[in-house]
Parts: sequence; structure tokens; C-alpha cells
Amino acid sequence: MSIKLKGIAASDGIGIAKAYLLVTPDLSFKKVTVADSDTEINRLHQALETSIEDLKTIKGRAVGHLDKEVLAIFDAHIALLTDPEMIKQIEQLIKTQHINAEAGLKAVADHFINTLEAMKENRYMQERAADVRDVTKRVLSHLLGKELPDLAGIDSPVILVAHEVTPSDTSQMNKQYIKGIITDLGGRTSHSAIMSRTLEIPAVVGATDATQQIKNGDMLILDGLTGEAIGSPSQAEITDYQKQAQYFEAQRREWAKLVDAPSVSADGKQFEIASNIGTPTDLGDVLKAGSDAIGLFRSEFLYMDSSDLPTEEAQFEAYKRVVKVMKGKPVVIRTMDIGGDKSLSYLHLPEEMNPFLGYRAIRISLQRQEVFRTQLRALIRASQFGQLRIMFPMIATLEEFRQAKTIFTEEKHKLQADEPGIGDDIKLGIMIEVPAAAIFAEAFAKEVDFFSIGTNDLIQYTFAADRGNECVSYLYQPYNPGLLKLIKHVIDAAHQEGKIAAMCGEMAGDAVALPLLMGMGLDEYSMSSSSVLRTRSTMKSLDTAKCAQLVDHVLANALTNEDTRKMVKAFLNK
Ligand code: PEP
Ligand code: MG
Repeated sequence: MSIKLKGIAASDGIGIAKAYLLVTPDLSFKKVTVADSDTEINRLHQALETSIEDLKTIKGRAVGHLDKEVLAIFDAHIALLTDPEMIKQIEQLIKTQHINAEAGLKAVADHFINTLEAMKENRYMQERAADVRDVTKRVLSHLLGKELPDLAGIDSPVILVAHEVTPSDTSQMNKQYIKGIITDLGGRTSHSAIMSRTLEIPAVVGATDATQQIKNGDMLILDGLTGEAIGSPSQAEITDYQKQAQYFEAQRREWAKLVDAPSVSADGKQFEIASNIGTPTDLGDVLKAGSDAIGLFRSEFLYMDSSDLPTEEAQFEAYKRVVKVMKGKPVVIRTMDIGGDKSLSYLHLPEEMNPFLGYRAIRISLQRQEVFRTQLRALIRASQFGQLRIMFPMIATLEEFRQAKTIFTEEKHKLQADEPGIGDDIKLGIMIEVPAAAIFAEAFAKEVDFFSIGTNDLIQYTFAADRGNECVSYLYQPYNPGLLKLIKHVIDAAHQEGKIAAMCGEMAGDAVALPLLMGMGLDEYSMSSSSVLRTRSTMKSLDTAKCAQLVDHVLANALTNEDTRKMVKAFLNK
């Protein structure tokens, strides 16, 4: 019997492969007294050796597709497993207290971890504590005869089944073999879902108990278009989905023909379809998609991929690379948006009850000005190599924007002492993601150069529903007439002042939202590169005057998200 699972469709495509459960096995054990200490010491050495072999094999396989920094972690772990001081202490404990190898290992490891963690201000030591915890798990798993999951070592096609997938997990994945991802937790706009779209891996998130229902090695079908998954499918189901996957691939090939085509509507109106990126390594996908611009560079990933604050020089190089590759096409770089579900250990931010409502994004930048100023300087310097725009995240009040602009202007003037005119052509914009800014868009439109509507957060805050929490994911309602009115208000306010209205939240790449947004006159649509060509293809078939009529019809008649969806579907099928 096949097992049916339902989650949230998070990344397009269909995957069919064996399940790979990314869950840590139960490593609990009993501390027992043993008469024969030598046997326990032998067991310990065997487990240490097998663990070292594991790490060497994983590292060997990972060379070539993982970053040097990730590879260095394997060496650090091997060094720990051969640390004579630690091994001597475990042996002594086993001998003097007559305990089993598991208990000896755990006691010594815990002692090391506690000592390292006590050095709260020392980030290096904190990270070493995490290393000791990691290698202890590996040795324990061998002592207990249990198998640990090994993401970097995956070398055949699989679908990952996990409680949740973190950005650091995704950095270890070899895209060639990961045919899909299904997670218990998460919403469509959680950052793990966004990463899956960037990697073009089909994904279903928020499937509640996928890790309970699916076993390692089970055959699995995953439909990232509908949010459905089938465990242990019948042959008929596999054949059916293979056909659907082929159809999807054929569509993709059709879309690919539009890579050099302009982004125009059926009646010839020009728009801009842009890409969202996390790091410069996403640039390949931007070029493959033929994007008109980069509408959102989530610069915080530069900070998250680094073990310390990235220097002005490192940031400058990264921004310069992106701007140069785009050869004069606009590149909108958002200043650091840390906080919410993106943490940064070395900034030592306080624990918060409500991180999404707390110390986040521009709120941090305005207080940690040294961090902000470094970023702004790097941006201003990189602006010489193309068309760079700067955008501030999470702006709620005019004062916040004005303060950010003043700091930007101060840094620009300092740099102009050496290089006159540098940064003068940089456009400054804000993300509209806090309802207070959306409602008062007319005032902001007078002072900024452009808006970019961040619907992931705007919807989260408008509906008071955590974007990463699958229990409230039904409140992710991009077609709700109340939200549509708010978005229309923002677009109209920008146009009233002759400013650009862009959107860079996931709604910008949503096929149902597209005719509505075109009808409202949204200028720029920024999305995962994997959605660019599909959107360009649909845009070509839509007439803006008819889309505007659809908007009028929806705003006059729809009362719910579902009402709108039906009206748009009827419009698209006409
Ligand atoms: C948004 O909130 O819509 C957005 C684009 O920013 P992020 O998803 O990074 O919060
Ligand atoms: Mg946001």
C-alpha cells in the first residue's frame, strides 16, 4: 500500500527516487560496570578508527563539489579523533571506574564541551564545542552499531526526508543526486524552501510527519507543483508521475527558448523580470534564465557563510563580481537582513521571544553602525562597475529610511574625497514588508527612488502568521482581496510620484498572481531564477488592459483568497 502525504508545494518539479532519511538515530545507552576494561578500550579504538575512515571517505567524495571551508571541517574533526590528550583521559576513566566505552567517551566529551562552552565570549571555542559534540556522535554511533546520515557523502539519486533542512545542510548537498526534498516543518517562504527553489530541487515542506511515515530506502514520489508525496508507490503511480515529470521537462525546454527574449505582454508593454540571489554563486542560474536584472541580492548570506564579519574588501569583491557579470543591467542589493529565522552567532544578538517582530534587518544596521557603514562603503565602491541599487529591508517609519540615507550619504562623501562623484548615481529604495510602510506608501514614495514589495514578510505581518510555521500556513494568502488592495495602494503610490514599483517576495513568481500584478502595473518582478522563463512565457500571452479589468472585477467581487483564485483561473482558461 502506498502512503500519501500532503505538504506545501515549495519548489517546482517532480522527483522520483529512494528516500534518504536525514534524522539522527537514537544514541542513548546505559552506563554499566565492566570487568574487562581492555575489551572496552579496544572497542573505543575500533570506533575511533572507523570514524576516522568515515570522515576520510566523506571528505574524499566531497572534494570538488564542496567549498574549501567545509572540507576543512572534516580535517578538524579527524584531528579531534586523534587527540592523544582526549583519548588518554577516556582510557583512564574506563580503567579506573570500570565503565563501558560509551560512558567513558561521553563523560570526557561532556567535560570538554562544558569547558569550551563556558568561554561564552570566545566564538572560536564555542565552535570547537560543536565539533566535539559532532565527532562524539559519530564515535558513539559506531560503538552502538547505528548508522549516521551523511549528506555530503550521498552519491546516488535520493529524495531527502528531514524534519527540517537548514541553509548549512543545503551547502553540503550535491545537486546532482538530490532529486527532491520533503520536510516535516516549514512554510512556502521559509528560507529552506527558498534555497530549494534557488537550487532547482523539487520540494515539499510542512508535511508534518514525513520522517515518521517514510523509511530509509522506501521508493518515493515527490510533486513540488502540488505539495503531494507518495511513499512506496505502485508501479502505475510511478508510470503516471514519470509522464508528468517528462511533460514538465518538455515545458521547461519550451521556456528555455525565451532566454534572450524581452519580457513583454501580449500588447507589447515592457516589464522587467529579475532574479533573486543569495550569493554570487547563484549567478550562473541568473544568466541561464536570461533575467533582465537582479531584483534582490540577499546580502546577509555573505555574512552567514563567513565565520566572522566579512571585511569591506571581501564584500566589495562579492558585490563587484555580481555587478560586473550583469554588464550594466540593474542589480538591487539589499543591506543585511539578519534576525528572524536567520541568525549570526558572531553578532551575539540577544535571545528573543518573537524574533520576527524583534531585532532584525535595518533595526540592527542602524544600531550597529560600524557593521552598516562597512557594508555601505563596499557597495558604493562596487557601484563603479555597473548599475548598483541599494535597498533597505524592514523599513517601518520614515525616520528609519532618513537615518539610513544620512549614513549612506556620509559614507559616500567620505569616499568622494578620493574619488569624486563615486556613488552619485546609486538609487536608494526600501522594501515594503511592514504593513505600516505599505499603508503610508504615499509618504515614502516622495523620498525613495523605488519600492520593492517583500510579500513574504508583508503577508506574514499582515495576517499575523509566522512564515515558517506550517500550522498557520493557510494564512499565507497572496490572493486575499485585503492584501491585494494593500499591494495596489503601494504600486499606485509609487507611480503617483513617478517611482518604480517592484516586487521581490515569492508572490512575484506566482502564476496566479501574475495577471493581477500586471493589471496593477507592477514594473518589476523579481523571483527565483528557476521561475523567470515560465513567467516570461505566461506574460507574453497576457494583455495588460484585460488584466486591469480582471483587477477591477476581483476587487469589486472577491471576498476570499479562494474567490480570487477561481476568478483568475477562469480568466487564464478563457
Ligand atoms: C520578503 O520578505 O518578501 C523578502 C523578499 O525578503 P526575505 O524573504 O529575505 O525576508
Ligand atoms: Mg523579508
